[in-house]
Order: sequence, then structure tokens, then C-alpha cells
Amino acid sequence: MKTREKAIVLSAWIDSASCITLVSHARPDGDAAGSCAAAAAYLRGCRGKDAAVILPDAVPASLGFVLDGCNLTVACDALAEAAARLASTDLLICLDFNTMSRAEGIAEKLQSCPARKVLVDHHEGPSTDEFDLCFSSTAVSSACELLYTVLLEMPDIDHDASRLPMQAARALMTGMTTDTNNFANSVYPGTLRMASELLAAGVDRDDLIDRIYFSERPNRLAAQGDFLTSYMEILPCGAAVTVLPQSFFERHGLADGETEGFVNMPLAVKDVRLSILAREDEGRFRVSLRSKRGVSARSLAVRCFHGGGHEQASGGKILIPDDIPDTSAAAEYLREVAARFMQENNTVN
Ligand code: 5GP
Ligand code: MN
Repeated sequence: MKTREKAIVLSAWIDSASCITLVSHARPDGDAAGSCAAAAAYLRGCRGKDAAVILPDAVPASLGFVLDGCNLTVACDALAEAAARLASTDLLICLDFNTMSRAEGIAEKLQSCPARKVLVDHHEGPSTDEFDLCFSSTAVSSACELLYTVLLEMPDIDHDASRLPMQAARALMTGMTTDTNNFANSVYPGTLRMASELLAAGVDRDDLIDRIYFSERPNRLAAQGDFLTSYMEILPCGAAVTVLPQSFFERHGLADGETEGFVNMPLAVKDVRLSILAREDEGRFRVSLRSKRGVSARSLAVRCFHGGGHEQASGGKILIPDDIPDTSAAAEYLREVAARFMQENNTVN
């Protein structure tokens, strides 16, 4: 089925639903928060629906503004409330993740939720069995861009972005902007079309950029300097590896999510084609991977870090003791994995 035909089905499901819930993945980023907020604002503003957002964890402070007024429940703080909402939901829309397990703490509750389930996502290999209707494409920048194409097909919007509530329009612009790293990657013709149409519809992009990128706390900048000078390690194989121990977060007073973006920085170096950053988190490491074209961050995440994601931006974890005996072995593990992967990659190309 084409997007248009599926959108007609979704529109009918929206009409018949009385309680609609939007959900996204653990440790939500701008695309997760933006897509949920945009869908909620549309459903409430244009369709008069009871729409609420459930996220497994809180969003980073700089992105909180997109969810203002969205009836948000953060499940890790209010699990019973999230469970009650899911039990009475008759349409569940899952955004920016391809399998329920990525919702971590609420994954089982989503699986057992009796509602009709719809997916709107841009990752490879969606678990189609878990959903009743799937909007899935990897040829878009973000879940926000895919959601935008779906919303344009809604009968009341009818390809006129100016009919979207302003809160939905700015949330869509936000998620697209953060997932493209402010137009640095994953930009398609449709991405620029969307940006152009949302601008024409009145989105104040300067204000969004100010909120997303120019609202840091000073200690975050100091942490960035420390990361670049004392933690990032550039290897001869063309990979950069970084291990950020718990003490790094304590010393700089960083909140969860405040190292967002650090992993991209080593790629600014000419011959660095892969960046791996591991953050110590409750007895294991969360791993972020970024790569330049020709090196698949995704296959490395799948192969070595129990994870996945996009070709050039992926994530996963290092488990103790499954992968390494203790935290002190993380840096050496990253060096080995990176050197082996880059060597194989160079042999293949
Ligand atoms: P980040 O480095 O920003 O945490 O994650 C980058 C991308 O990697 C995310 O957009 C997501 O697609 C993917 N990703 C991150 N963590 C995981 C994980 O644990 N499992 C899978 N399958 N994908 C992940
Ligand atoms: Mn995304």
C-alpha cells in the first residue's frame, strides 16, 4: 500500500478512536520528542482527540519545549500512570523506533496493549509483526519527515502545511533538524521541501536553533573541552574511540543527555571515518557510533555492541562481564574492535 492509501486507513482509525497515545524510544532525542509532540498537537488541534504522549525516559532539558502542553507521562517516573493510560488506549502510534524492545522499560506494556498499533519510523528492518499498520522508510531524514508526509495526506490538511497547528509544525522542524544534525547528514529532497514548507507556514527557525543549539550550560562546554583534550583517542586505523567513565559526568556535573553530540566531533578530523563513544551507565556502557560514508556504523553496532540504528549513526552497549571483565577494560576493547573493523572495511572496499 502507498502512503496515501495507508493514511486513509489511519485517518479512519483516528476517527473511530477515543483515546490515542503516542510513544517513542528510551532516552528520547529530538526526533522522538518532536514526532510525538507533532502527532499529539495535530490529533488534539485538528481532530479534537484525547491524545497523550508516553516516553520511557525524560527528554533532555533543551528539548522540553516541544512537548509543552502535550499531556506527557514519563514512564520511568510514573509507571502506573503510563500503564493505566495504555490500558485505556484504543490507538497506539509508535514513532522513531522499529521494534517495541527499544522502548525498554515500557516495551512489554506496549506489546500487551490492546489498542490498534501504528508505526511511523525511519530505521531499517521494522518488526512489522508487532504493528497493524506500518509507515516505514529509510529514505527520509527522520521520523518527523515521514510523519509530515503522512499528515499531509490527512483529509483536513490536504497537502497544505499551513493547516497544521503551529506547535506541530515547529515540533516537526525540530526533530528533522536534530536528526540531520542541522542539515549535515541524511538530507533528502523531501527534507528540504518539508523545511521550506514549514518555514513558509510560519515556523520561527531562528528561535528553534537558539533553543536546540545555543542554550547550553557553561559546564557542558567545559566538559566538551575536557573530552576533546583528554578522552578522545584517534587511532592510526582512522577511528576515534572515547570512554567516558562515571567520574567524568560527576566532575562536570553533567545530566543524562548532555554529552549528546560529542560523538560527532571526532569526525571533524580529516582522516577519521568512524567515531565510537562509550559512556559508563549503571554497571555497563552505552555506546554511540558515527561514521562517514563507506563505513557502516550500523553493522558495527549490530556485530559488536548488541545494537543497531542507521548506516552512519547507530548505538548499542558493552556488557559486563559478557563483553569485558570490568570497566577498566573498555578502552582496550574499543581499540581492538575499531582496529579490526576498519581493517576489514578497508579490505572490502
Ligand atoms: P545515539 O548515539 O544518538 O544514542 O543513537 C544513534 C542511533 O542509534 C539512534 O537514532 C538509534 O537509531 C540507534 N540506537 C541507539 N541505541 C541503540 C540500541 O541500543 N539498539 C538499537 N537497535 N539501536 C540503537
Ligand atoms: Mn530518528
